[in-house]
Amino acid sequence: MSTPDEPIGFGESDIAHGETLLEVDGLTKYFSSDSGLFAGINLETDQFPPVSFGVDQVEAVDDVSFEIKMGETLGLVGESGCGKSTLGRTLLRLLDPTDGTISFKGDDLAEMSGEELRQKRSEIQMIFQDPQSSLDPRMKVGQIIEEPMRAHDMFDDEGREARAKELLEKVGLDPRHYNRHPHAFSGGQRQRINLARALSVDPDFVVCDEPVSALDVSIQAQVMNTMEELQEEFGLTYLFIAHDLSVIRHISDRVAVMYLGHIVELAEKEELFENPQHPYTRALLESIPVPDPRETGVRGVLEGEVPSPQNPPSGCRFRTRCPRLIKPEEYDLTDEQWKHTRAFMRAVKRRTFEPMTAPEIRREFFGGDTPRGEAGEIVEEAIDLIEGDGEYQGDEDDEREGWKRATDLLLESFAERSICAQEQPAYELESELGTGTHFAACHLHR
Ligand code: SF4
Repeated sequence: MSTPDEPIGFGESDIAHGETLLEVDGLTKYFSSDSGLFAGINLETDQFPPVSFGVDQVEAVDDVSFEIKMGETLGLVGESGCGKSTLGRTLLRLLDPTDGTISFKGDDLAEMSGEELRQKRSEIQMIFQDPQSSLDPRMKVGQIIEEPMRAHDMFDDEGREARAKELLEKVGLDPRHYNRHPHAFSGGQRQRINLARALSVDPDFVVCDEPVSALDVSIQAQVMNTMEELQEEFGLTYLFIAHDLSVIRHISDRVAVMYLGHIVELAEKEELFENPQHPYTRALLESIPVPDPRETGVRGVLEGEVPSPQNPPSGCRFRTRCPRLIKPEEYDLTDEQWKHTRAFMRAVKRRTFEPMTAPEIRREFFGGDTPRGEAGEIVEEAIDLIEGDGEYQGDEDDEREGWKRATDLLLESFAERSICAQEQPAYELESELGTGTHFAACHLHR
């Protein structure tokens, strides 16, 4: 059994700084929605009867590939429900992957089980969001920090206590608090205890799942600074999951942006923040609150809801909300005409305007003049279906039917025929800033 006489980062890693530590290829995690009382019954609001039967898959993480180098911090950002936490948990094998490989120091974690996986877990640790609920209130701080060492049979009692006290100091707490219970600590201090626990088994890789989200902004920076110091001292590698871009900007070397189970953009931090190439990343950046008292709320808030991962859009998953959806090849439209048509389609789909007469609609969306040719005929047919004094107006049900038919017509004729709906995008671009590669899953770069 080892003794704590060795330095606190007691094992030298066999991977050098800057070499690939973790390589994920085609990682996929689907959940089936076949548990519970209503197993196999699906609600379909747009059909009658509004139920269907069969087991649906929730595509939480779908065909994700990336690598993390020894000593770096990869930030993983996206709205809640985009699959970030599922990805983190699947990497650690807290969830079983549906498909793909997770190569850690050359060994595929996805293939491991039993004792082999348990052993490997000392090299990979996780810190969770809520420091309150992830610490057992009945245990003393010392016991909490020693627990993973005990599980991996590291040191004797005396050795574990010495290491726990040393780690308390390293994470910025007083070693004399070894016998206190977690409730005696603030949120930030509790997250430091979590950090000490994770580091107790000398991991190389730590998945940090929203570790500072529950903390006050002023405390967030302090905890992140400590994490950076520890990273330097122990040569740690972090996957840092957060929904807050300012947190991601503070701590990351590279950033991956996730949307509905896919990675849509990945680049070095500066490149991603200064030269974003995916419309979703741009929308996220634009929605950062501005610290200007004259501006209220957030700017450029994303339109619409994230679609269900049970039935994600074909091609690019962001296409149902993308303000830059690409024009279908078959129509002869100028960029300006497509911009108008796209805006009209989105407004009809979301029913964002009150019924108007046909000339009013033409004026409002097309500057008075709808496009010529086949595209123009489709637009005119849609206008016909929703115009204020047309055949579908007057009765509420008829009106609803008119808007639905116009929406279906526009989506089928334009949105579904775009390359964005037909092919899944994946492009490697040259970085303008820094030296790394820049991945963007957007056909604007085809
Ligand atoms: S592929 Fe199309 S829908 Fe997707 S982000 Fe790019 S432009 Fe938008």
